[in-house]
Amino acid sequence: MPRTLADTSNLTGRSRPGGRLLRPRTTAQVQRIVRLANLRGWTVNPVSTGLNYGYGGASPARTTDIQLDLRRMTAIRNAAAISRANPVAVIEPGVTQQALYAWLQQHHPDLAFNVTGSARETSIIGNALDRGVGYFGPRREDLFGLEIVTGTGELLRTGFRRLGEESPLAHSHPYGLGPILDGLFFQGNFGIVTSACFRLVPRRPVAVAITLGLRAGASLASFIDRLAELKREAVMDSVTHIGNRARSHASLMYGITTYLEQQCGRTPAAAASEAREALAIVAQGEWTGLGAVTGTKAQVKANLAELRARLGDLATVRVLTEERLALGYRVMHALRFLRKARANAAAIAALRPLHVLALGQPTDAAIDNLSWRYGQPGLPATRLDATRCGLLFINPALPMDGALVAALVRELEDLARPFELYMTINIETATSLVAVINLLFDRSKPAETAAAQRKADALHAHLRSHGLEVYRARADMMAAIVDPADPYWQAVAAIKRALDPNAVIAPGRYGV
Ligand SMILES: Cc1cc2nc3c(=O)[nH]c(=O)nc-3n(C[C@H](O)[C@H](O)[C@H](O)COP(=O)(O)OP(=O)(O)OC[C@H]3O[C@@H](n4cnc5c(N)ncnc54)[C@H](O)[C@@H]3O)c2cc1C
Repeated sequence: MPRTLADTSNLTGRSRPGGRLLRPRTTAQVQRIVRLANLRGWTVNPVSTGLNYGYGGASPARTTDIQLDLRRMTAIRNAAAISRANPVAVIEPGVTQQALYAWLQQHHPDLAFNVTGSARETSIIGNALDRGVGYFGPRREDLFGLEIVTGTGELLRTGFRRLGEESPLAHSHPYGLGPILDGLFFQGNFGIVTSACFRLVPRRPVAVAITLGLRAGASLASFIDRLAELKREAVMDSVTHIGNRARSHASLMYGITTYLEQQCGRTPAAAASEAREALAIVAQGEWTGLGAVTGTKAQVKANLAELRARLGDLATVRVLTEERLALGYRVMHALRFLRKARANAAAIAALRPLHVLALGQPTDAAIDNLSWRYGQPGLPATRLDATRCGLLFINPALPMDGALVAALVRELEDLARPFELYMTINIETATSLVAVINLLFDRSKPAETAAAQRKADALHAHLRSHGLEVYRARADMMAAIVDPADPYWQAVAAIKRALDPNAVIAPGRYGV
């Protein structure tokens, strides 16, 4: 066995050793490792690409003997069968957002998929299994027909993949027959997923991104309720992200400053002062929304009219298209010797990667922004865990209730002080919202790190005091979320005993 030990240090500042690093290439190798682990009494922590930034990175919930890194399993197994009429990719855990995007661009540019705002080299399966969220909706809904190595090393295929890969139903009908087992392997530790069917999305003839600038912070509750209604009625089909000022500014600052320094030769001090003018153009108010409208030309026109009619009194509605941004950039960039034009060009330069994200193109922009902020611009987005950046996610699921959410946001912001909360409220499903909330800190400072961790715990406790809970937990939160006395977690433990009797896989992860 190779002697390399996995590096599990990560942005949260809390980590457990993952043990010896193994990087299998095939499902059969994964089975052999799990069987051996059963014989030797080892525990195994599976990760796909291990870039679970802000949730514990590659760290296990409890110390394990083997870190099973699946990044070398990179096949798109049904590549020859993918088409617009058959928009499903059977992928392995090492298939990243960028790999699938590049492959589709080359072979089927009319197909897209649900992208997340994390690094281009993050795993689609890894993200979905932790119930990550993309710009088109929860990734959970995109994945079905799982191939799993259970805790005993046996192979289990869910849905109609159990009929064999040659069955015409194997990669097409998501539900199979009988109890749907797929859900057990999301936010669980019952098995290691070695491949899965992933839904692709035929591109619509017209796709435009929308920014929504809320005029008065006090109208946040009505803004949320109206956006919720637009989601329920499918006027806006993407997830609308409503970012608070801290978050919107943080997302744009790197692009703006880089433009001003590199394209206009401004000194860092001059760029910082001019950046404020650029921010005022794109993210003026307390809350700024980003979403997308897609469809035929007529559908998009009608939906935009509806959107303007329903939101116009609360927010400025801006429609972004690649053509408009490109034209605006060309004109403003040419006039960049004028301060105002420079600010406009910088704003557009920063907005462009976010705009493409809303339309289904992965980007490293959000991660690059953090590396830059913590003094390491240009570091690959796969190396964020190696920076001083500290980040803890505390992400509650929320009801579709604007007044409740607006009040809660204020409470959380007050409680977080002196830390500032970076927050988006995402109109995620037709019946619920999620808030993505991060605490940022400098991990090279132990006192600041400890204070941030205490604050994260306090924010979580506050959510629970309202009967709320996070929709996704960091590795270091598992003991707090799993209550062994609760019948729900007892049922989870019983399933664990059936599928992984020796508790080989990821002990303590979403389970006792
Ligand atoms: C600036 C920023 C923006 C972000 N944006 C988003 C976003 O838009 N949406 C989002 O969801 N997240 C986001 N993240 C969080 C995170 O980076 C992503 O969720 C990322 O995709 C997770 O890492 P990964 O894909 O490498 O998954 P991994 O780290 O490989 O997997 C996550 C966990 O799932 C389990 N797992 C993984 N693979 C397997 C397997 N094959 N079998 C069994 N269990 C497995 C393991 O417990 C693992 O720890 C963001 C983070 C930052 C810092």
